Amino acid sequence: TPVIGVFALQGDVREHLTMLERSGARAVKVRRPTELDALDGIVVPGGESTTMDKLARAFDLFDPLRAALRDGLPAFGTCAGMIMLADRIEGGTADQETLGGLDVVVRRNAFGRQVDSFEADLDVEGLDEGFHAMFIRAPWVEKVGRDVRVVATVSSGAAMGRIVAVRQANLLATSFHPEITGDHRFHQLFVDQVRGAGTRAPR
Ligand code: GLN
Repeated sequence: TPVIGVFALQGDVREHLTMLERSGARAVKVRRPTELDALDGIVVPGGESTTMDKLARAFDLFDPLRAALRDGLPAFGTCAGMIMLADRIEGGTADQETLGGLDVVVRRNAFGRQVDSFEADLDVEGLDEGFHAMFIRAPWVEKVGRDVRVVATVSSGAAMGRIVAVRQANLLATSFHPEITGDHRFHQLFVDQVRGAGTRAPR
């Protein structure tokens, strides 16, 4: 059984723990750098990326987690978590840093104040049937590097064509919150990816 951590300093941690367990993983909260060693994968939840950034640094989790990601630890970021995994952000605060690893530009709060939150049905690469997605002050992916695979885009409305799910090597990220809709297929994709990656050698 793969052990998957959830970054637990801020964000919707509980929802992710539930979905990961439902997808056949053992899910554990991560607050300390030493807790990274036991993991086969990690989820960075939705929440507030500026706060996550600050807390990660305050709790000495920022550099070790960044190193683990560079080292190939599989990671799944949702919404604020997507922002944390992005190499570059637009609309960040002046001193905001990200863990990075995903060769993308992500725009924070991209869908605008008018559409603070909304729902959309998405076609997702790797899923047989559509996925009902919830967006809350969500980012979108504005630019993707060569090695990034687009997994889902918005299929109608003003934001049609906007990229909302991507994958690159060990990293998976969504603009929306698959942890809150009761549909665990996205978490299942991630858990299967972690299984495929195998257990990491102890560092
Ligand atoms: N707007 C938030 C941020 O910039 C993300 C919102 C969310 O995770 N629901 O971090």
